[in-house]
Amino acid sequence: MSLSHATQNETQFDVFSQVARYDHEQILICQDNHTGLKAIIAIHNTVLGPGLGGTRMWNYSSEAEAINDALRLSRGMTYKAAISGLNLGGAKAVIIGDPTKHKSEHLMRKFGRFVDNLGGKYITAEDVGTTTKDMEYVAMETDHVVGLPEIMGGGGDPSPVTAYGVYMGIKASAKKAYGSDNLAGKKIAVQGTGKVGLHLIEMLKKDGAILFATDIFEHGLKIASDKYGATIVKPEEIFGLDVDIFAPCALGAILNTNTIGQLKCKIVAGAANNQLEDDNIHGDMIKSKGIYYAPDFLINAGGLINVYSEYNGYVREIAFAQTENIYNTVLNIYEKSEADNINTQLAAIQLAEKRVNDTMHLQSKI
Ligand code: NAD
Repeated sequence: MSLSHATQNETQFDVFSQVARYDHEQILICQDNHTGLKAIIAIHNTVLGPGLGGTRMWNYSSEAEAINDALRLSRGMTYKAAISGLNLGGAKAVIIGDPTKHKSEHLMRKFGRFVDNLGGKYITAEDVGTTTKDMEYVAMETDHVVGLPEIMGGGGDPSPVTAYGVYMGIKASAKKAYGSDNLAGKKIAVQGTGKVGLHLIEMLKKDGAILFATDIFEHGLKIASDKYGATIVKPEEIFGLDVDIFAPCALGAILNTNTIGQLKCKIVAGAANNQLEDDNIHGDMIKSKGIYYAPDFLINAGGLINVYSEYNGYVREIAFAQTENIYNTVLNIYEKSEADNINTQLAAIQLAEKRVNDTMHLQSKI
């Protein structure tokens, strides 16, 4: 892939200014003609520790889009690890291609070789478009991979731990908004009945919440309604429901000018990454409506905490216990947001950046 000789529809894309904008440490372009591998590993910041972030495989419409995704997502991983108190940096990899057509054992193994060449500066894991099986192929070529099945010494499916962190975020937000974190009788709308959404619904049901759910596929909805008594609504109806809490557990960028205008809830707290279409504009908009927004990268960090636990010999109970800290951090963020009069997403970013900067200062004095 040529970065200096941009294709016609990429003439506006300047990779160095993008890298400088987010202040990345290193970008690795991985290419292999034999397997067809085209990947980008973006290492954003390794001040706190090795950069950890999953490998996404996606049929990007352009190379610029793939690079942008890697840059944006890797920066998000720096924030997530920093605010969660983990000694990890932020990184992410993207593989360009259709995961249903272009993936093979040898493509994943070749990718594993590139990961290995970084000597531990980047640690990979599964993400959208890659599976645990793919990570088993990667693990044939490198030790720098986490999220393997439990029988291989890994932490297995992170979704229950992610859901638990979101549940903690919802409870802390309820404490702030209502003075009590008791969710009995609270009306809660869950967007997306996938892996995280269904675990979350189970936890909320146990607390006596009144549930509403939506999805674009039937499978999870049937479980939500038959097993947990959730009322099913159409995807476009979820935003305007008369509920106390909205938990987005499907897609990014779903909090925008149109959807925020429809919200009647007091709290937004869910698992989806990058929920705010724009951190400044939509973070401010949600704050000015008097809605408590629990920053996504803070409350969905349970999955990262889960893989981090693999370093010390994985014990699932410990991962769950560490995820409980999310409750107090969310309360701190609401306090900081009020004290500094900034939206909660920016308050969380500032807290994460402070930990990175303070650690960098510490290192420069040794
Ligand atoms: P998933 O793919 O299992 O579930 C997502 C669900 O959202 C699917 O059932 C899908 O059909 C549904 N969906 C897609 N578009 C929709 C729409 N327009 N309206 C309603 N539903 C829609 O994914 P997951 O693992 O449950 O993750 C959910 C979200 O949380 C994702 O954004 C993911 O990036 C994020 N997240 C997940 C984890 C984890 O541990 N799994 C960790 C951190 C963040």
